[in-house]
Amino acid sequence: MLVDLHAHSSPKSSCSKASLRDLVEAARRRGVDALCLTEHDLAWPEDELAAASADVGFPLFSGVELTTDAGHVLAFGPLRRPLWLGYRLEELAAEAEETGIALVLPHPVRRQAGERAVRAGRVPPPPDDVVALPAWSVVHAVEAGSTQTTPTEQALTAAALRVAPRPAVGGSDAHAPGRAGAWVTRFERDVRTTAELAEEIRAGKVTPVSAYDRADHDPLEGT
Ligand SMILES: [Zn+2]
Ligand SMILES: [Zn+2]
Repeated sequence: MLVDLHAHSSPKSSCSKASLRDLVEAARRRGVDALCLTEHDLAWPEDELAAASADVGFPLFSGVELTTDAGHVLAFGPLRRPLWLGYRLEELAAEAEETGIALVLPHPVRRQAGERAVRAGRVPPPPDDVVALPAWSVVHAVEAGSTQTTPTEQALTAAALRVAPRPAVGGSDAHAPGRAGAWVTRFERDVRTTAELAEEIRAGKVTPVSAYDRADHDPLEGT
């Protein structure tokens, strides 16, 4: 089963230019089975998500992209605190161990090797330094690629995963129409609830896949 684990919809994520319909249309055209909405510091209420899923006729899950002291962290499953209070990474990790939610590190080397870091003249660190970052080992999986990461970031992440293997996932991190489904996660079994999705991520039964791996070329390339 292919799930795009990381996507932002407008207006719930103010940085996104893609409506839920835009996201679903792209995901569907890329042959993705389900989409997980991960708005910034905001969770979709379950009834609203179910109504939206029925409305667009497509399976939807919800996670949250939390802003923590260690940068962004994706959380899949119910959180105990009101999100406006925020989480520090270590609080989030402790709660996840109690509740069984899954944590994923998105764009893991953005600060070290992302576009802005490169423009500022920063030299990307060796993979050994990346795996020493606290977030690397605290989360249950690392995001191997998205449409918001550069080839440099993806190569450094891949090198770090070779040094310190961790479960890895893919998600489009779509913020615009046409992007959803460009990076996805293959689940070994079908998942129907966020709890099942979290369980599979925690068990490491996941693989990242880019649209370029699934076809000779991305069917939506250039759109
Ligand atoms: Zn992010
Ligand atoms: Zn994001």
